[in-house]
Amino acid sequence: MITSIINVIVITMNSENEVFPDGFIQFKNDKITLIGDRKDYVKPAECEEIDGKRGILMPGMINLHSHLGMIPFRGLQDDCVDRLRKFLLPMEKAEMSPELVYASTKYALSEMLLGGITTVMDMYYFEKETARAAQDMSIRAFLGETIIDEGACDFENPYESLEYAEEFIQQYQNHPLITPCIAPHSTTTCSEDVLCKAHELSRKYSVPLTMHISEMDYEIQYFMEKYQMSPIAYMNHLGIVDDRLVAAHCIYMNDGDFAIMKGKNASVAHCIGSNTKAAKGIAPVKDMIEHGITVGLGTDGPASGNTLDIITQFKLFADFHKNINRDRSLFPASSIVAMGTINGAKALHIDEYIGSLEAGKQADIVLLETESVNMFPIYDPYSTLVYSANSSNVSMVFVAGKCVVKDKKLKEHNLKDLREELMNQMMQRENNLFQEHLL
Ligand SMILES: [Zn+2]
Repeated sequence: MITSIINVIVITMNSENEVFPDGFIQFKNDKITLIGDRKDYVKPAECEEIDGKRGILMPGMINLHSHLGMIPFRGLQDDCVDRLRKFLLPMEKAEMSPELVYASTKYALSEMLLGGITTVMDMYYFEKETARAAQDMSIRAFLGETIIDEGACDFENPYESLEYAEEFIQQYQNHPLITPCIAPHSTTTCSEDVLCKAHELSRKYSVPLTMHISEMDYEIQYFMEKYQMSPIAYMNHLGIVDDRLVAAHCIYMNDGDFAIMKGKNASVAHCIGSNTKAAKGIAPVKDMIEHGITVGLGTDGPASGNTLDIITQFKLFADFHKNINRDRSLFPASSIVAMGTINGAKALHIDEYIGSLEAGKQADIVLLETESVNMFPIYDPYSTLVYSANSSNVSMVFVAGKCVVKDKKLKEHNLKDLREELMNQMMQRENNLFQEHLL
C-alpha cells in the first residue's frame, strides 16, 4: 500500500539537514519511497493521500533510556531524599509481577507513541512481558533484561536473570521490531563477575549492552577509593566499553572517560529531565560532543523523569545546557532535534534504517499539527519543536509504515481500557503498597 502525506513542512534530519517548507513524503508498506518538494509530487494511481495541513513532519523520535514497567511508581514520593532505597526498590521487590509489568509497559508505550516516539530502549525485569507489550503496541523496541546482584522482583539470583536474559535474546533474534539487549543494572549494583557475564552475552549474540554509568556521586567515590579509577575506566578495564555499549547518564566524566568512550565508539543516553529533577547534576554534553561521542536522549523511567516524551527533553536540554555554559548560541535547535532522532539511531547503530526521513529508510514518521495556540508563527521548524511544541501537538505517528496514532489518539487501543487494566493490576497486589499511597 502506498501512502502520501502532502502539505507539510518536512524536517528530514538527513546529512544535509534538508528542510522542505512545502514538502511531501511517500511510503510503500514499511519503507519511504519518495520525499521532497511538493512541486515534484505526483499522486500515484492507488494511494492513500493525507493532507498534513501545514504540520511539521519529522522522523520518529528515539528514546534511548527507560524503564517501562515503572508507571505505578510515577509521582510517588518524588521529593524524598534517597527515594530509590526508601520506596522504589523495596516496593518493586514486593509488588512487581509479570502482569503488572505487561500492563504498565503498554501504558508507558501509549504515552511514548502519543508523544511521537517510535523507538525505545528499555531495561527492566520480566522483559519477556515488556516484549509482548511492545509487540501489542507496534513500537520499535530495544529491550534488555536487567541484572542486579541483590536480586529483583523476577529473580532472587543474578545468575538466574542471566539465564533468562540469554533465553530472551535467543527468542527475539531477528524480530522485525524487537531487538533484544542485555542490561546489567549499574557499575555498583553488579559484581565484576556478573558484569563480565552480561558482557559475554552481548558479545556472543552481538546485541547492545545498556546500563547506568557515572550517575551517582557515591559511585564515583567508591571507584576512586577502591580502584583509583573512574567507573568508566573500570568498566573499560573489564572490557565492557565497546561499540555495543549505550551508557545511561554519564554525569560525572573526566578527560580519560571521554577518550575511552570515543576510542571504543560507545554511546551515551543523556537523560536531562531525570538527572535535573533528582538534582544529580548536568552531564557534560558539550565536552562529549567536542570529543566526538555519540549522544542521544532518554526520558528515563516514569518514576525518574515523569514525562515520557522526547519533546519535553528538547526544551529541558536547551534550557539547562545553554544556561550552564552561559551561551545561548550553543546547541542550536537543529542539533537538539538531531539528538532525539538521527543521533539516537547512531547510538543504536541503526542509522542506516531509521533516524531520518530518506528514501529507502523505514517509515517511522511523526506529524505535529501547527493549528494549536502555541504553534504560531513558524519561522524555523526546529526552533518551534524545541522551544514551543509539546507532546500534545503530535497528531499522527507511523512505525514501519503502520499508522499507530491518528488525530492524537491511539489507532488500535483505547487509553481508558489500558489505564483500567493497569489500575486493576496495581490494586491486586499482595501487600497493598500502592493503595496505601494512592489518593
Ligand atoms: Zn534508568
